Amino acid sequence: NPFEQFKLNRQILSAVEDAGYDAPTEIQSKAIPLVSSGHDLLGIAQTGTGKTAAFVLPILMKIKYADGDSPRALILAPTRELVMQIDDNITLLAKNLDVRHTAIYGGIGAKTQIEKLREGVDILVSTPGRFLDLYGRGELVTKRLNTMVLDEADKMMDMGFMPQIRRILEVIPVKRQNLLFSATFPPRVEELTQEFLEFPEKVEV
Ligand code: AMP
Repeated sequence: NPFEQFKLNRQILSAVEDAGYDAPTEIQSKAIPLVSSGHDLLGIAQTGTGKTAAFVLPILMKIKYADGDSPRALILAPTRELVMQIDDNITLLAKNLDVRHTAIYGGIGAKTQIEKLREGVDILVSTPGRFLDLYGRGELVTKRLNTMVLDEADKMMDMGFMPQIRRILEVIPVKRQNLLFSATFPPRVEELTQEFLEFPEKVEV
């Protein structure tokens, strides 16, 4: 199996096989080794390239099992649909692991999401607004976050999320690994990468 090159553990490898992924996509081949070795990453890739698994697989290798109550990885995405898709991809690839993950987003009541957070979460997928909402209500503990992903960063900038992202960066630990994915690389995203990423490796597909 070509995925063995990434030194995935047995449980993750068998989930990848069950998902029908025969070989890594280009973004996966380039990004997974860099993310696994701890680098910050700037990934320029469109939807459909397999970019989600390119960050989910190394995050699963880093997180591996449930531990403590508050999340260690935060994945931010611009829309509810995208947040749900990412969470579904985690469900698929983490099915043999004891890792807790959940999706939170606006447009619906927060009660069920809060209950889920209180049960303990290892990987949190969220829209920026709902993250800040629940953080402001004291429902989100950020002190253990050590990995952060901004997905579809260009879309986040288009939707005016820069102030929310800046605010989120103020309330999470400084020492962490950062990954940023964007389909395009306009000046606003370049500015964001300068604020968000530290000595990033860049991969483009
Ligand atoms: P994404 O670009 O992350 O939205 O992924 C697009 C689709 O490709 C999703 O349905 C993934 O489950 C699927 N996918 C991701 N990686 C692979 C792979 N290595 N082989 C086959 N399908 C994949």
